Amino acid sequence: MTTLLMRGGTIHTPTGTGATALAAEDGRVVYVGDDDGASAYEGADAVVDLQGGLAAPAFTDAHVHSVLTGFQLTRVDLRGTANLAEALDLVARQAATQPDGVVVATGWEEHSWPEGRPPTSAEVDRAAPGRLVLLERRDCHSSVVSPALEQAVAGLPALDGYDASGRVERDARRRVSEVLGDLVGPEQRLVAARAAVRAMAASGIAGFHETAAPHIGPAYELELVRQASAETGLRPTFYWGSRDLAEARELRVSGLAGDLNADGAIGSRTAALSRDYDDDPGNRGHVFLTAEEIADHLVACTEAGLQGGFHCIGEEGLDTVAEGLLLARRRVGRDALRAARHRLEHVEMPPRRLLEVMAELGVVASMQPLFDALWGGPHAMYAERLGERWRGMNPVGSMGRLGIPMAFGSDSPVSPIDPWAGIRAAVHHQDPEERLDVRSAFDAHTRGGWYAARVDDAGALEPGHAAHIAVWDCPAGLAGDLPDLAPDTPLPELRHLFVDGVMTGEPR
Ligand SMILES: [Zn+2]
Repeated sequence: MTTLLMRGGTIHTPTGTGATALAAEDGRVVYVGDDDGASAYEGADAVVDLQGGLAAPAFTDAHVHSVLTGFQLTRVDLRGTANLAEALDLVARQAATQPDGVVVATGWEEHSWPEGRPPTSAEVDRAAPGRLVLLERRDCHSSVVSPALEQAVAGLPALDGYDASGRVERDARRRVSEVLGDLVGPEQRLVAARAAVRAMAASGIAGFHETAAPHIGPAYELELVRQASAETGLRPTFYWGSRDLAEARELRVSGLAGDLNADGAIGSRTAALSRDYDDDPGNRGHVFLTAEEIADHLVACTEAGLQGGFHCIGEEGLDTVAEGLLLARRRVGRDALRAARHRLEHVEMPPRRLLEVMAELGVVASMQPLFDALWGGPHAMYAERLGERWRGMNPVGSMGRLGIPMAFGSDSPVSPIDPWAGIRAAVHHQDPEERLDVRSAFDAHTRGGWYAARVDDAGALEPGHAAHIAVWDCPAGLAGDLPDLAPDTPLPELRHLFVDGVMTGEPR
């Protein structure tokens, strides 16, 4: 039996009763209370003096793409390089430390260099001889390819946008991106998965939901994410965005949910609306599934003991999902649907009837509160695309009032892995009607994620729960047993992460 004792700090508990100490045995919390009461655990294998810090349930992230996140974390960043030589130097160094796969560098801008031009393919080849190298311009509209990469893309010189210097734009650039996915193999994807999982651990995340899908990465990535998680000690839950029950069994996933697209996204004007996009008259986006298909999927998942769910964003897409849920209720009944704990991702523009159906059927809302911080408000991307309709988007306040179970996440790399920033975004939502109190927001990023993964004994520091604990320094101070999250104040910094009572992660 291994035991853990923490004392001398603030313990965040569901009831907020002023606990200062906690003990765990074999990965389970056994005691929460004052320091005196904790003296019974004096001889614990590990004793942590909290020194006034905060011990709180570790975070969950309910929507992550680990390998894509890792690509973003591991590629060479050319922003801020002083000249061409420095940029090529970074590429050479990356090629030396990364023995195989494609070397990807992003962020160059020729006008910020005295040379006033991008590197040529010959220069890239001198920096990384014989390697597959892609250098992407900061705006992602043009790139430079190495000679080896050019050769790997059949027919590239014949395409529109190809230049013999190695620069590719338009059709040529698109073709390179298409081929790139196949050139990046399992080893490189495992390196990326490891980087993502370590980044999550460093952010105080103990459990995350990998929302994998055939259009996002190859199915073998699930095993790589399992391996990377086991190495770091994190607890992943897997979803697969398909309607094929045989694949669910084969891939050992908890559900056919996550990025199974019912519609598109606002940024690319493919989310399905009931009125035109303000900045693209005539376009209302696309619904990819009918209400009957949605109902069939939910019924099939319910009967197979799996969670079902969809990526769904625009009001028209979400109304179709509401219709599908109602059809499914007629076929298998309310209780069976509630017990299955189905889930919907993003739910950015829900019509009222969807919210009511979600509340009635216990459907989890997997929300990304940083979307509002990034794109909400009267002057950002949502308002550009949708005008006044930006109000009431990502309505975590309404969901909270209706008792809809919520699980917060990042959709990383779409928004960064930064749970405290997400909680702050929900608390200071740009639509004042949709603000959530800090306790509910914190719950949605901890217990809510475990609930969404159908784990009911994790996410709270109380006896019987898994000892997934993050210890924080809170430079802006505490308000009760949570950090003060006023705008523009420094966010908490992770000291330690414990998963199942064992210290893990990378303390910063
Ligand atoms: Zn996603």
